[in-house]
Amino acid sequence: MLHETMLRKESLIAPLFVVHGSGIKNPVTSMPGVYQLSADNAIQEAQELRNAGIRGILLFGIPGRKDERGSEATQDSGIIQKTLRAVKAAVPEMMLITDVCLCEYTSHGHCGIVENGIILNDQTTERLAEMAVSHARAGADMVAPSDMMDGTVAAIRKALDMAGFENLPIMSYAAKFASALYAPFREAAQSRPEFGDRKSHQLNAANSREAMRSLERCAEEGADILMVKPALPYLDILSRARERFTLPLAAYQVSGEYSMIKAAGEKGYIDADAVMFETLLAIKRAGADLIITYFAKELAKQL
Ligand SMILES: [Zn+2]
Repeated sequence: MLHETMLRKESLIAPLFVVHGSGIKNPVTSMPGVYQLSADNAIQEAQELRNAGIRGILLFGIPGRKDERGSEATQDSGIIQKTLRAVKAAVPEMMLITDVCLCEYTSHGHCGIVENGIILNDQTTERLAEMAVSHARAGADMVAPSDMMDGTVAAIRKALDMAGFENLPIMSYAAKFASALYAPFREAAQSRPEFGDRKSHQLNAANSREAMRSLERCAEEGADILMVKPALPYLDILSRARERFTLPLAAYQVSGEYSMIKAAGEKGYIDADAVMFETLLAIKRAGADLIITYFAKELAKQL
């Protein structure tokens, strides 16, 4: 009767990694239970998620070819565009959200267009806007820019509106910290930077006021949902954001958070199921409306 916070399957979003080909289900070794899937297996996974009560999936694409500009990111035959069409046709009721960033597509592994070792902000936001429109045309229901450049949300909003997608929402990775907890993801998405790091554009773990500024900026640029990432080590940011913004908030329980729980569970040091439940409940309690988590299917089955 006095339970203040409830986890609901409807608020969970499952991330999926998709690759070209068919019949592919490559396990990601650092993330037990997570796979790189070809479109046919992504359809099957989407059906299982739907049957478990999950309403949304977030797609990350691994391209066939990487180059300096991340060309495949905007091609109609690109991995995300192909997967969107396939999954949309098979599971039309699933909300399809796409990650919009270039790091999976560039040969150098950085989030944008690089010249002399520096990411060019404005040329990058232009490419990302093109990418978002291309996803929208292929059937995306929401786009999620994760690059953390200045002005991406505004550039995407303008490009979507001009292409006739005025009603397509943007979920912005607004408070994305430069975190060591992304390591397993970079194996899954094959997006490790060849040189340098992402500290020039992602947030410093020491800074909460800067995170508020970043959230504010994304809200002003037209984001419909604001995200905090990672989740558990940044619950204070989530909680401050909850007090300050009326927009829906999403939290991303990232790969490292997932892998730590899985690994400790496998060793018998903790009860992984109980810790999964407790951490997700804490994320919800701190103020998340939506939780992006690799535990989505497991949790939904238990709820
Ligand atoms: Zn990126």
